[in-house]
Amino acid sequence: MRIDVGALLEQESGIMDFAVDGKLDEFVTKGDSWRLPWSVHVEGTISNSDGILNMKGIITGAILLRCDRCLETFVWPLFIKLEEEFAHTAVSDGDVLNIYEGNYLDIDSIIYNDIVLEIPMKSLCTLECKGLCQKCGVNLNYQRCECERENADIRLAGLSNWFDKNGGER
Ligand SMILES: [Zn+2]
Ligand SMILES: [Zn+2]
Repeated sequence: MRIDVGALLEQESGIMDFAVDGKLDEFVTKGDSWRLPWSVHVEGTISNSDGILNMKGIITGAILLRCDRCLETFVWPLFIKLEEEFAHTAVSDGDVLNIYEGNYLDIDSIIYNDIVLEIPMKSLCTLECKGLCQKCGVNLNYQRCECERENADIRLAGLSNWFDKNGGER
């Protein structure tokens, strides 16, 4: 996503609106537990103060997450406030400001980093997700399995051992 700020830079102080869409899926690595299959939308304003550009806006879109419990993918909507400052390569003294060259702001990596910060530490498709059966692997949100009963049987096994040892009838 590139934003042409040429006209803005011609005014010593001024403000412009912007709106851009772009795909950032190339940033996502195979090892990541999430995907960015859709374009993200960024819009807001950029103000110029002697060549220092201040961008304020909103990032909207959605990412695809994988539930930690049931491993199903689900859509996580994004709505992120954005505020960044940019200095031209010619005036930057190497501090924390983002750098731009020529008349363009290249914001892909900034937007990507903001999205990464929004990714929840724990991804759950719903708070009530029942997850997978640890024994047979069925998704317990959709299906029931016999393992639950077997587990209960295992818990009773201690008791039945007692009956065995003591010659009791089951
Ligand atoms: Zn789940
Ligand atoms: Zn099971």
